[in-house]
Amino acid sequence: MAKLTRRDFGKLTAAGVAGVGVTGIAETAAGASASLPSLTSIVTRAVDLPAAQGHRVVVVGGGWSGLTIAKYLKIHGPDLDVVLVERRALFVSHPISGLWLAGMVNLEAITFSYLDAAAHHNYAYLNASLIDLDREAKKIYTDQGWLSYDDLVVCPGVDYDYASFGVDDPAHEQLLKTRYPAGFVSASEHVTLYNKVKNFKGGVFVLTAPPGIYRCSATPYERACLMAAVFKRENIKGKIVLMESRDQPAVMAEGFLAAFSELYSDVIEYMPSSTISSVDPETRTLSTDFDDVIFDDAAIYPRIRGARLLEQLALADPKSAQKEAAIDPITYNAVGDAHVYAAGDCRPMPFSKSGGTASSEGVYLARLIAARARGESVPWESPHTLCYSMVNTAPAEAIMVDGKYRFDKASGQWAHFENTAINERDEAKGRKAFEWAEEHFRDMFG
Ligand SMILES: Cc1cc2nc3c(=O)[nH]c(=O)nc-3n(C[C@H](O)[C@H](O)[C@H](O)COP(=O)(O)OP(=O)(O)OC[C@H]3O[C@@H](n4cnc5c(N)ncnc54)[C@H](O)[C@@H]3O)c2cc1C
Repeated sequence: MAKLTRRDFGKLTAAGVAGVGVTGIAETAAGASASLPSLTSIVTRAVDLPAAQGHRVVVVGGGWSGLTIAKYLKIHGPDLDVVLVERRALFVSHPISGLWLAGMVNLEAITFSYLDAAAHHNYAYLNASLIDLDREAKKIYTDQGWLSYDDLVVCPGVDYDYASFGVDDPAHEQLLKTRYPAGFVSASEHVTLYNKVKNFKGGVFVLTAPPGIYRCSATPYERACLMAAVFKRENIKGKIVLMESRDQPAVMAEGFLAAFSELYSDVIEYMPSSTISSVDPETRTLSTDFDDVIFDDAAIYPRIRGARLLEQLALADPKSAQKEAAIDPITYNAVGDAHVYAAGDCRPMPFSKSGGTASSEGVYLARLIAARARGESVPWESPHTLCYSMVNTAPAEAIMVDGKYRFDKASGQWAHFENTAINERDEAKGRKAFEWAEEHFRDMFG
């Protein structure tokens, strides 16, 4: 496994980002080739897995949530038969991808094999896409055939909601997704963004942060800092315009605003209170209620929603503004189903949509499902949100936020508690950012 100590990061970087072919990323759906199975075989053929040895828990989605749940199910329930179903053949981490963008780590350092995860943690990995669910028969259908479960955990993450800024023509949406991808869902988007930054010849590069609860609150601001550091290092005569409807950054506002003004005043133009009303990819114009911004390049981040798969499986809450999963907030059970769960960024609870949060939540949920399989129960535990954001590259300096959650019965709302933001950037937190990632990668992949 690629280690992530700071020294090794240096080594990997010294080896040259260019030394790792980005074409090495494979995230196509399994079987998305000439050998696509027929619909009949999906329905009639069982997947190529040995028969279940005991109580089978199927986890769909091998992101930060599903990888953690699969691992900890085997720790808390060694007799469980655990299968992780993931459509990707290779894991490329979102966390730390910004450091790759800035040349601080090599792509290899954030790329991992699902086979290693399954082998180290003693579960089965099925490279397949979930297509349908039969809750009565307790069966899922994938593009590789069907699979029975005793318990099912669905962790498919999020999708973009382009309609949120008035884009409802599929051709328009496709243009935006292809030319100006947000860089918050797939590894292909990260590679496109990396190439955009590498090839940027100058001018205005627009970044946006969406309204609502979005994936990784700190990342739009961290990304602005990291890209600005690249512009400075490479003498690119460009400006980064970061637009959002909030009146200040969603998290660690003081730390990010200090970085913008103290480190990047000549590069970053922060435009708070700017609600995007439309975006024209042909004329490269972003319009707000007050202004038009013409850009040379952009990464446009629309509002996010629970993965569309939830709707296909009838697991989405139709009343949820961001179309998240309809689940019990304590047990994560799909409404009315004691054997189907949903977790990770598709959850409706207002926890941070971050990898660390999904990971701590996954440990709790694995313990809960393993205990239930033995006829026991466990007390609820708050997820833990711990996030380091790199705001400077030379030296590598970060800021951080640390928090937990509790349900306030009086207001009927979730609230943060033990919430600490440390907004003074320093190298100690920069080192912690690397250590945090190394610890999580080791946890998921062994
Ligand atoms: C640029 C960036 C930087 C970030 N930085 C940080 C950070 O510093 N710290 C932090 O804590 N968090 C960070 N995050 C957030 C973090 O990546 C997410 O919160 C986390 O990935 C959520 O985990 P998840 O498992 O819910 O979703 P995902 O990680 O998106 O995983 C969902 C998985 O489901 C699979 N899937 C979907 N549909 C199907 C299907 N039909 N069949 C099979 N598989 C399917 C997908 O292929 C995917 O692998 C960052 C995110 C981004 C984009």
